[in-house]
Amino acid sequence: MDDRGFRLSDPVSKLRDSDPTLLVKNLNVDIAVPAGTLHAVTDVSFHVDRGETLCIVGESGCGKSITSLAVMGLLPRKATLTATTLSLEGVDLMSLKERDFSNIRGNRMGMIFQDPMTSLNPVYTIGNQMEEIYTRHGKGTRQEAKDRAEYLLNRVGITAVKSRLGQFPHQLSGGLRQRVMIAMTLMCDPIMIMADEPTTALDVTIQAQILHLLADLQDEFNMALVLITHDLGVVARMADRVAVMYAGRIVEQGTATQVFATPSHPYTQGLLECIPIPGKSEPGSHLGAIKGMVPALVGDQDGCMFRNRCPYVMDACTHGNVPEQSLSDMRSYLCHLGSEQAAINLKSGAFVTAAQ
Ligand code: SF4
Repeated sequence: MDDRGFRLSDPVSKLRDSDPTLLVKNLNVDIAVPAGTLHAVTDVSFHVDRGETLCIVGESGCGKSITSLAVMGLLPRKATLTATTLSLEGVDLMSLKERDFSNIRGNRMGMIFQDPMTSLNPVYTIGNQMEEIYTRHGKGTRQEAKDRAEYLLNRVGITAVKSRLGQFPHQLSGGLRQRVMIAMTLMCDPIMIMADEPTTALDVTIQAQILHLLADLQDEFNMALVLITHDLGVVARMADRVAVMYAGRIVEQGTATQVFATPSHPYTQGLLECIPIPGKSEPGSHLGAIKGMVPALVGDQDGCMFRNRCPYVMDACTHGNVPEQSLSDMRSYLCHLGSEQAAINLKSGAFVTAAQ
């Protein structure tokens, strides 16, 4: 095992300077369902580096969580994954046997779920669970595991840690459970954390504290953070870069500043018209709405998947591939409309008008 926690026999075990921490290229996830094949994720590509936060944003059912499960190797058996590249620090995750993948999961990469009760084991104490992660990955002795668990519980803002280590998950509040989950994820010093709606189940003040904590820990441990959320407020607060997902595809990506200042895909424009923006929205002004729902992703997928909800739909959108409009190295969106027309549309407030 090398100092990154990878076996020397792992595919591409040598880290190249140019390797992003997490690199995903052309990821597809299909799931067999009674009605046919559900194309949950289609041609998704992104990367994230240490110290960087990528937010994947979109409404429910657009493929965000399946993307995170695919990266973590946690897809259901009936799902089929294909990708050109799926690598962590240059190691090809798709080539790993399950046993080798589970050595990396929880060790070099960790996952924080929306509801910690679904990932904490209800019949073991917090201390047992934290120590097991550390010792199972060969990081040290039980005593060292206990010391690290105490340090991390303290670090995530939990008091009286010695007694907390002896408690069961049901004895903690939702906010404390999420802090425990974060501490547990850090036990093996991961290089990348995937957090799927980590604050959605919490009340607003606890949400802010947990986000603040995540940002602090990311700095301290120099981790790559992929944050999955439907909340644009969370994106604005946390993201260095943003990937907007719709119907299993990334329809727009760029830096947070670019995407918030000049959203170019009609879906991104619609999302931003649905929320009040401090300093921009007039008091008493109407908010927008994106009418309709995410389409069923079963069966043939020809044309733009947003066409039934898009105020700018035209004949070309109904069939064939949608072109990628590349604005710069890491800034692009999927649409037939070029950037000049997108800028004009942005000023039109079409989603606000449609909502009235
Ligand atoms: Fe709208 Fe057409 Fe662009 Fe799709 S490709 S977002 S339907 S304008």
